Amino acid sequence: MNNDNVSKNFNLNEFKVSKDHPELASKIVFSPMDIMTIRVLALECLQPIRDSYGSIQILSGKRSSELNAAVGGAKDSDHLTANAADIVSLDSSLLAVMEWIVNKSGIPYRQVIYYPNEKFIHISCNIPSKAYKHEAFTSINGKYVGYNAAKK
Ligand SMILES: [Zn+2]
Repeated sequence: MNNDNVSKNFNLNEFKVSKDHPELASKIVFSPMDIMTIRVLALECLQPIRDSYGSIQILSGKRSSELNAAVGGAKDSDHLTANAADIVSLDSSLLAVMEWIVNKSGIPYRQVIYYPNEKFIHISCNIPSKAYKHEAFTSINGKYVGYNAAKK
């Protein structure tokens, strides 16, 4: 592992990305707390997905307040505290990945949100500075519906 690796298959630089605002993403500087948080996110939440379903691309990781505003993120977004990532699967079906995360994996996510229209999964991990959660949603036309309830 080189110094920028945060788990076997993830590198710190993969967490400062934005397709629409690359110039804002490139300006992100990770604090020591950000790096510890990203390690937890990578080790607990992302690496298990990678190990089971193959390559993952991170569309959005840590956001500065500037980048979060530019992408229309929530004011209290987990991306601001570096404990969230928006991911796509390069090798597997996104729905299969989501189904496994929620109903089989045992991954200790804080929040996982399936975006079937936008075609990505938002996943965050629990960190000491935020209230513990373990919840799964599907985003349908901007509304969050419980993931398993939405399937019925
Ligand atoms: Zn997100």
